[in-house]
This record gives sequence, structure tokens and C-alpha cells, in this order.
Amino acid sequence: MEVGKDKVVSIDYTLKDDQGEVLDSSQDRDPLSFIFGNGTIIKGLEDALEGKQEGEEVSVDVEPQEGYGEYDESLIIDVPKDKFQDPENLQEGMQVQAQSQDGQTQILTVKEIKDDGVTLDANHPLAGQNLHFDVKVSEVREPTQEELDHGHTH
Ligand code: ZN
Repeated sequence: MEVGKDKVVSIDYTLKDDQGEVLDSSQDRDPLSFIFGNGTIIKGLEDALEGKQEGEEVSVDVEPQEGYGEYDESLIIDVPKDKFQDPENLQEGMQVQAQSQDGQTQILTVKEIKDDGVTLDANHPLAGQNLHFDVKVSEVREPTQEELDHGHTH
């Protein structure tokens, strides 16, 4: 079976940056499973996987606009310390969760801790980076109706 719309696809992958440094890998975990074509994975990777067969291996280079976006300086925000439940536990480089106004959970990176506030970066940690994936399509199968209804794999 080949990778296409609404198929359940499992991949083994290694993600490297321009310097060849490994940023993420499924090697020590289970393969990544997702429903193809619903935006679960970044566009650049989805485009490269479409039509591939089970067992096929592919190397993919993804530019920021097809990956996690360009780095956006306007997504750096200052927040007063009293907005945090336990500001004394904050550390630069750590990630915190916030609810946006439309109720979505957002991940922010703590960029700098100052006397009176905290600078947060709402860019995805991989924004602005070229991404290099080595991917093996380990499984392609039909989704169950329940998986389709939920929009994720079980
Ligand atoms: Zn579910």
C-alpha cells in the first residue's frame, strides 16, 4: 500500500540540522504514526512521503517555510513574573505551556529571566531552521472509522 490521503502511516526518522547534528530521532522509540494528509506532520515532509511504498526510504530537505516557519521576532514577548505560578522555578531555555485566547495550548521557550519579568519566545524551537530528514516508511494501512473520526491513530 502506498502513502496517501487518510492512510495511517508509520515512519522511522532521524532529523538533522544544517551542521549534521541530530535534533530528533525515532530510533529509541516506536515509529511515529499519524493519519496522512491532515496536517499532523510538516508540509515539506508530507509532500515528500506522498506515494511512497511501505519499506521505502527517503531523504528530505525541508526549508523553514515548509517546516516550522521563519523565525518571527514579533513572537518574543515580555511577561510579568506574577503571571507564573512558580516563577522561582523558571530557567532560561526551558519550555512552558500557555493557553492562548482561543483556548489553544501554546509552547513557549523561556529566553531570558529579568528582575521584573520573563522574556518568552513563542516561535517553534525549530523555526527558521533547514531540516534534513532520513525517513523509512515502516507501515501503511487503512485507518479505522474511529481513527478517522478522532483525527489521530490509536
Ligand atoms: Zn482517539
